[in-house]
Amino acid sequence: MTLPRPRVAILGGGPGGYEAALVASQLGAEITVVDEDGLGGACVLTDCVPSKTLIESSSTMTSLGRAASLGLQLADGGNPVLGVDAPALYTRIKALAADQSNDIAEHLAAEGIRVIQARGRLAGPHTIEADGATVQADVVLVATGASPRALPDGAPDGERILTCRQIYDLPELPEELIVVGSGVTGAEFASAFQALGSQVTLVSSRERVLPHEDKDAAVVIEGVFRRRGMNVLGKSRAEAVRRKGDGVVVTLADGREVAGSHCLLTVGMAPATTGIGLPEAGVHLDSRGFIEVDRVSRTSVPGLYAAGDCTGVLMLASVAAMQGRIAMWHALGEAVHPIRLSHVASTIFTDPEIASVGVSQATVDRGEVSARVVKLPLATNPRAKMGGFRDGFVKVLARPGTGLVLGGVVVAPRASELILPLSIAIEQNLSVEQIAHTFSIYPSLSGSVTEAARTVMEFGTDAIA
Ligand SMILES: Cc1cc2nc3c(=O)[nH]c(=O)nc-3n(C[C@H](O)[C@H](O)[C@H](O)COP(=O)(O)OP(=O)(O)OC[C@H]3O[C@@H](n4cnc5c(N)ncnc54)[C@H](O)[C@@H]3O)c2cc1C
Repeated sequence: MTLPRPRVAILGGGPGGYEAALVASQLGAEITVVDEDGLGGACVLTDCVPSKTLIESSSTMTSLGRAASLGLQLADGGNPVLGVDAPALYTRIKALAADQSNDIAEHLAAEGIRVIQARGRLAGPHTIEADGATVQADVVLVATGASPRALPDGAPDGERILTCRQIYDLPELPEELIVVGSGVTGAEFASAFQALGSQVTLVSSRERVLPHEDKDAAVVIEGVFRRRGMNVLGKSRAEAVRRKGDGVVVTLADGREVAGSHCLLTVGMAPATTGIGLPEAGVHLDSRGFIEVDRVSRTSVPGLYAAGDCTGVLMLASVAAMQGRIAMWHALGEAVHPIRLSHVASTIFTDPEIASVGVSQATVDRGEVSARVVKLPLATNPRAKMGGFRDGFVKVLARPGTGLVLGGVVVAPRASELILPLSIAIEQNLSVEQIAHTFSIYPSLSGSVTEAARTVMEFGTDAIA
C-alpha cells in the first residue's frame, strides 16, 4: 500500500523554518514555506549574518591595530593608512546576506519545496492563508521569529535612533554611538563599532556588562572595552531617547543625559506572534507572547509545531534550526531526541570572543551543581604571546570523582572555534582525563584546553572549587 505524501506547511523561512523544510523533504513530505522577507529569515538578512560580517571587518581592524606591537609599520610617512569606507562596508554586508539568502532559496528549490513569498496567517490549526492562497497541511510549523524592541519613549527613526536591523543603511560610520543595552547584541555592536573608530558609550542598566554571562568573562570584556576608550555606564537605565539637532540625547532614569550622534537600541526582542491567528487556532502563548512548546517543539494544538525565536526557548540560530528539525522528525514519525538545552554552545562575538557550553559557574556558585573549576589565563599560552593576545582564559568545569566535563568557557580570539572540544566532551560524556590525553598542536590556543584539563587532573577531581 502506498501512503499519500504527508503535507507540511511552514510559516517563516528563517533557520527554524527552512531547516525544518529540508528535513521534511528528506522524509518525503510535500512542503510549502510561506515567508515574507526572504529565505534565511532575519537571521540571514538582518541579524546574525550581517552582524557577524560587520564583526569580521572590525576584528581585522583590531588585528591591524596591533601591527606596531608585532613589529610592523602601518603608516605612510607618519600618516596612518588604516580607515573605514563605511558605504563599502555596509554594501558588502548587505550583498553577502542577500547572497546567502539566495543560496538557501536555490537549495529549497532544488529539493522541490514550494515557497510563497508573502505574509501569511493561520486560518485554523492545519491551514495557512497567504497572498490569496490557502495551504492545507497535515503538519504545520510556525517559525515567525522575533523583532527588536524599542524604548517606550524613543521610537527608532532609521536615521539617528536605530535598531540593529537599521544600522547597515547609514550613509556613514556613527561618530559618537550610544548603545543602549549591554546584553549580547549590545556588547557585540559596541565592540565592533569601537574597533572601527566610533566613540562608543555603552549604557547598561546592570552593574556590569553581559549580566547573564560568566562573570569572569564579563569582567574581562568590560576591562577591554574601558581600556580601548569605551565609555561604559553601569547601573544606568535609559528611559528615553530623542533627536536633538544633528544628534541624539539619551535620558537616564536618574535624570542624567548622554549626547551622541546616533543611538542603537539593543533592549531585547519581541516574538512575532501577533495578528497571525495563533490564539484563534488554539495555540497557547505565555505572558510575554512567546509560543509555548515542549522539548519536541509541540504546541498546545496536535499537529501544530513551533520553532525558533517565536518560542523564546533560546534565541540562537542553532537552537531554532534544531527545534525545526526535531519538529519534523517527530511529526513525520522518525526517532527523535528531545532538545537538550544544557548542551547548547554559544558565542558572544565581542573582541575577544566569549564562548561557553554546559553547566555555568553561576550554578556551581549557587550550590546547584558540584564541580571542580579550573581557569587558565590565556596570557600564559605561547601562541597567545606570539599574537599579542593578553586578555582571556579557558575555564573547564568537571564533575568531582568521575572528572566528566560539565561545562566550559573560553574567552579568546576565535573562541567560537575553540569551544568545540569541550562541546564534544559534554555531548559524548568525556572526562578531563580523556581530553588531557588528546594531542593538541604546539603552539596553539587549543593547547590551553588540553592544559586546563590536565590542571583539573593535577589538582584532583575530588575537590570542589
Ligand atoms: C543582531 C543579532 C545577531 C545575532 N547573532 C547570532 C549569532 O551570531 N548566532 C546565533 O546563533 N544567533 C544569533 N542571533 C539570533 C538569531 O538571529 C535568531 O535566533 C534566529 O534568527 C532565529 O531564527 P527563526 O527561524 O526563529 O526566525 P527568523 O530568522 O527571525 O526568521 C523568521 C522569518 O519568518 C518570517 N515571518 C514572520 N512572520 C511571518 C508571517 N506572518 N508570514 C510570513 N513570514 C513571516 C520573517 O519574514 C522571517 O523571514 C542574532 C540575533 C540578532 C538580533
